[in-house]
Amino acid sequence: MKLKIKIIGTIISLVCLILVGYSTAYGILLPYSPVIVGFEKKTYKMATIYYHKGYNLPPLEEIDTLIEENESNHDLKYKRNVDIILCESDREKKRITGSLTRAQSFFLFGRVVVSRKLQDEAVAHEKPFGMYLQHELSHSLTHQNLSLLRTFTFPAWLDEGLAVYSSDQFGKAGYFNQQEVSAYLSKGFFYHPNWWPQPLHKAPIESKEFELKNKYYFIYSEYGCIVSDLINTYGRNRFIDYYHHLLKNKENEKIFQSSFGISFYDYLNEFKKRMISKSS
Ligand SMILES: [Zn+2]
Repeated sequence: MKLKIKIIGTIISLVCLILVGYSTAYGILLPYSPVIVGFEKKTYKMATIYYHKGYNLPPLEEIDTLIEENESNHDLKYKRNVDIILCESDREKKRITGSLTRAQSFFLFGRVVVSRKLQDEAVAHEKPFGMYLQHELSHSLTHQNLSLLRTFTFPAWLDEGLAVYSSDQFGKAGYFNQQEVSAYLSKGFFYHPNWWPQPLHKAPIESKEFELKNKYYFIYSEYGCIVSDLINTYGRNRFIDYYHHLLKNKENEKIFQSSFGISFYDYLNEFKKRMISKSS
């Protein structure tokens, strides 16, 4: 009986080991894997591109410039070269990231995974590839500077808003410009920052009930507007100070109050008023 239990235990451990090994090399754990296998490699000064042979690569010549611009915009340095993984198919993207979005950045190493769809759109000049890349590189910079513990508490709205603002996505490729966001805010549409779930959290019911055509383009654009408004109203230095403090500390409400001298709740009301006054 004891021998039987031992054998079953060994088989289960082996299966687990094989599954983790496979996921690390080829699947959902690849963004966190210490090594990346099965790809060709192209090295730039501040980035390493992983790609498959036989495909036209999207334009990557400005990668180092985009990275330097982000360091300057965020007043922060990348801790390591940015790994950019170019998928050969949307199926591979789904296997590695679990989703079919155009591109994603991951916590820990700040790796960026780019879908086949976005690469094809870039090669055909259908979508501004540099803009998408700049967005993900903003996340990458934030993620590289977060401890593992902070990755679960850093406000997701700020991560997105800063990425939209620093890649200047307003009015491009489906994203709303600031006037359009103002117009929707004046009609009563407002997607509260706290509705955008932190990593590992589920979206609250309000998120599901928020209905608007191109909802996610609106949400991203609204968060970009919040970052833009914070910088315009309180100055870049205070915004950067707030952002840097949040990389180390999880208490958004407290840090917001001490950085800007207003509660997050009151600020959001002021933000809405300022935006609505622009649209009237
Ligand atoms: Zn994003």
